[in-house]
Amino acid sequence: MENCIFCKIVNGELPSTKLYEDENILAFKDISPATPVHILIIPKQHIESAKDIDSTNSVLVAKCFEVIAKLGKELNLDNGYRIINNCGKDGGQIVPHLHFHLLGGIQLNEKIV
Ligand code: 5GP
Ligand code: ZN
Repeated sequence: MENCIFCKIVNGELPSTKLYEDENILAFKDISPATPVHILIIPKQHIESAKDIDSTNSVLVAKCFEVIAKLGKELNLDNGYRIINNCGKDGGQIVPHLHFHLLGGIQLNEKIV
């Protein structure tokens, strides 16, 4: 998708610090980390947000969660972590390419409602 920051990261037009990549999924460090570990996990396919998940692409969501579990183990996040998806304007989504935040390395207490 033209003018999508994360598509540009996927195709190498923009740099990123990659932690995992396969043919479908990319995981890279958030440019502005909110916690000691802050990774974004995305499908390479441009899906705008969680509201666009359907039976044709939900396998990519499952793959994102497989990568999250793998990274959690590799990074020794044995006490857990938080996975966040911001969906659409009211959900606080800034970048309109589906992504999951993996936040860890610190005790997270506050639950946002
Ligand atoms: P959202 O609010 O859309 O869920 O989160 C977007 C996230 O993308 C933010 O945490 C922001 O720091 C991150 N981000 C925005 N632009 C870039 C970029 O060019 N590179 C990287 N690595 N992260 C970015
Ligand atoms: Zn995109």
